[in-house]
Amino acid sequence: MTTTVENTAEFVRLALPLMNRHGVPMTPRNYAVWFEYVAGGNAALTEEIDRRVAAQQPFTEAANDELYQQFVSECDVGAFQRIRVEMRQMLREVGASLMNAGQDAERFGGRLSGTMQQLERSQSLDDLRDAVRTLSDEAREMRESTHALKAHFDAKTREIQTLQQELDQARRRALTDTLTGLANREALYDALERAMGDGNDLGQPLCLLLADIDHFKRVNDTHGHLVGDRVIRFVAQTLKRMTKGKDTAARFGGEEFAVVLPDTPTNGAVALAENIRKAVAEARLVRSDTREPLGQITISIGVGCFRPGEERDGFIERADQALYAAKQAGRNRVVDEQTGGDPVELTTR
Ligand code: GH3
Ligand code: MG
Ligand code: MG
Repeated sequence: MTTTVENTAEFVRLALPLMNRHGVPMTPRNYAVWFEYVAGGNAALTEEIDRRVAAQQPFTEAANDELYQQFVSECDVGAFQRIRVEMRQMLREVGASLMNAGQDAERFGGRLSGTMQQLERSQSLDDLRDAVRTLSDEAREMRESTHALKAHFDAKTREIQTLQQELDQARRRALTDTLTGLANREALYDALERAMGDGNDLGQPLCLLLADIDHFKRVNDTHGHLVGDRVIRFVAQTLKRMTKGKDTAARFGGEEFAVVLPDTPTNGAVALAENIRKAVAEARLVRSDTREPLGQITISIGVGCFRPGEERDGFIERADQALYAAKQAGRNRVVDEQTGGDPVELTTR
């Protein structure tokens, strides 16, 4: 596929609403697929998407993954990367037109001084009138040329700004969970791996909380999924409110959450987890439509502590085991991996 400065912005503008219409989440991978599609250079991909749309087959997560794997992943440069390159080119072009403006000004300056000499040499009123006319023609030409360049420059600047905003938006959407506004799983993995890098390089302690709403099926069964979603949002807000700075609170999936706590030793992580657990358990939630109380909502939390050199999934697995132990021990409690086999309730209520 070849893209030029002019059509890159257009592809971005075409791809985003199409993805939206077909309910395709704005992840970098999906974005790459639809960028290729609107750019039109990938016949097999175009055919497959058109076929899917015509047959009214939904763009499920599996279908999106397959499109990416089959038609895009072999491309050496991802769409995001390519847009960045195009944007750099566009910036270079703007720089070049500014240089042209400088050269034009020089050229006009040369002609202007020629006319000034003509003015000084003028012997008659007619000579003088000619020189003045030339002068005013040149001034107008210069004004028009500068005006056109400025308009070109302004248009390019606006184009770049729009493109940057669209990219930022797409990137943010790709890393945010739509229901809760928390980081999604992809963003969580990024934050976790960054923190693990610091843990390995700088020896900083690092902890991970995994939280799961207790008996959440009952909430759905009693009050329906919409109320269930509200409860998920409430827990997410509590996590957001109680974490700060370098911490990353994320929705791991369903009614499960994770919090990455860089530079935090186990006792600090357990204390925070305990505060979060209490804040959720103490809230008295009511349905906004009927004012009917929802009953107590509780969460169980597992705490894992990073061991330098270990793999991401092993680390998550240990926090998950602690969470499982908290469930086994009766729920509404915090268990850290070290005491995982022998759960301890940290506060009496
Ligand atoms: P436990 O205390 O063992 O965690 O019990 P639980 O009922 O919470 O059990 P489990 O974690 O297995 O079930 C989670 C349920 O959450 C299953 C699913 O129907 C529901 N769920 C998952 N994602 C969502 C969502 O986005 N919205 C709503 N409303 N429900 C969801
Ligand atoms: Mg669960
Ligand atoms: Mg649950």
